Amino acid sequence: MSRFFSARHASLVPYTPGEQPQIPITAKLNTNESPYPPSEGVARAITGEIGKLQLYNDPECTALRKAAAKYYGVAPDELLAVNGSDDALLFAFIAFGDRDRPMAFPDLTYGFYSVYADFLHIPAHVIPLREDFSIDPEDYMGLGENVVFANPNAPTGRALAPGEIGRIAASNPDRVVIVDEAYVDFGWESCVPLTREYDNLLVVQTFSKSRSMAGARLGFAIGNRELIRDMNTVKYSTDPYNVNRMTQAAGIAAFAENDYYMANCRRIMETRAYTTGELEKLGFAVIPSMTNFLLAQGPVPGRELYLSLKERGVLVRWFDQPRIRDYIRVSIGSREQMDRFLAAVTDILETRSEKI
Ligand code: PMP
Repeated sequence: MSRFFSARHASLVPYTPGEQPQIPITAKLNTNESPYPPSEGVARAITGEIGKLQLYNDPECTALRKAAAKYYGVAPDELLAVNGSDDALLFAFIAFGDRDRPMAFPDLTYGFYSVYADFLHIPAHVIPLREDFSIDPEDYMGLGENVVFANPNAPTGRALAPGEIGRIAASNPDRVVIVDEAYVDFGWESCVPLTREYDNLLVVQTFSKSRSMAGARLGFAIGNRELIRDMNTVKYSTDPYNVNRMTQAAGIAAFAENDYYMANCRRIMETRAYTTGELEKLGFAVIPSMTNFLLAQGPVPGRELYLSLKERGVLVRWFDQPRIRDYIRVSIGSREQMDRFLAAVTDILETRSEKI
């Protein structure tokens, strides 16, 4: 920290993104990216914008919001386009949280929630997941606090039924319930339709996982138009041009080619079932996942497994965090990548048993 750093942020512990390796890696399975490239229309759309880069992008994302509104079944002023869903989460924390409006979230969930709460001096009310890593909806009833959780949750992969989320929203009518649906396309049901019923429900989605655009940074916040207006107040007070010209065009093209992405999601779900089965054969306990990753506990301690896999060119995620230190989180890549991962795990287990 320099001597110029604001005292307000002196104790801030920033979020640690999954590593982007600079060494040769045969299977990068640590940041839940899609193994499949974007559709052809996306490439064409991006190329088409290059000659217009001297011009500012549309801060209102008019055409993109129109396409998104059609897809999500809401009005264009019931959604906001953002620079990846992290952007939406930040806007929501700024808009709805303060010293007197704490943010409640599970002990095991997306790491950015606690970072944003710290950064913005919003008290965090951390609620432990059940023993099996599921959320007990009763813990969130009548809290009188803002609530945020990922559904399906990360890094657990477990999901809560939209009906339960509706109940949570209904029982906290004076606070906002933020549902981060980063992984919803891998077999779960979205709460977007419920935003019509609950004016305090905000749904956040991303194009980083199911739509192969992590590097383009695109997401959406969907909710009652009053909530979206508040989010826009924050956006226009910080970063009006948050979604760049190429990403806006790419997003429109991706909506037009939705079938391609949904087919990829189905492939990933098949590969998830295959990988789960193979890991179980190798003696792993795998948490049932509704996402494009698995949280698995094996016969080898989490950190050792993570490091041994890395030595073999396979990158997974290990969290140095209570309750999940014994686990690894592995993104679901292509079948070939998962076979490389499984071969590396098999090799590690064999090498270990030889030593014993
Ligand atoms: N929410 C969850 C639960 C995530 O796992 C991630 C990915 N790190 C994000 C949000 C942010 O994704 P992005 O900003 O790329 O949309």
